[in-house]
Amino acid sequence: MKKIKQVKVPTAKIKTNDTKELRHMSYDTAWRKFSKAYRQRHFFCEECLRDGKYNIEKLEVDHIVPLCQVPHLKFDESNLQVLCKSCHAKKTYTETIANGKNGL
Ligand SMILES: [Zn+2]
Repeated sequence: MKKIKQVKVPTAKIKTNDTKELRHMSYDTAWRKFSKAYRQRHFFCEECLRDGKYNIEKLEVDHIVPLCQVPHLKFDESNLQVLCKSCHAKKTYTETIANGKNGL
């Protein structure tokens, strides 16, 4: 993912920390710990693996069904998979498009 340049936020209205917090609300400390532990047990990007590639780089834990749809499955391993950064970005992008079309 590309680094986004810091955007100036009107300080009177909202602190930059708050914006950051809002964006990462679903991915708090508990999640980071959990995902780290999960990645220690799942070493390969599952999407790359389907193509016969053993990709162990830049792994992230993905919610198969997006969290916004099933927030109660946040720590449910049946809804988790390990993806590399690029596969994860691709999936998220596809989901965003699909959600836009379906109006979910
Ligand atoms: Zn991958």
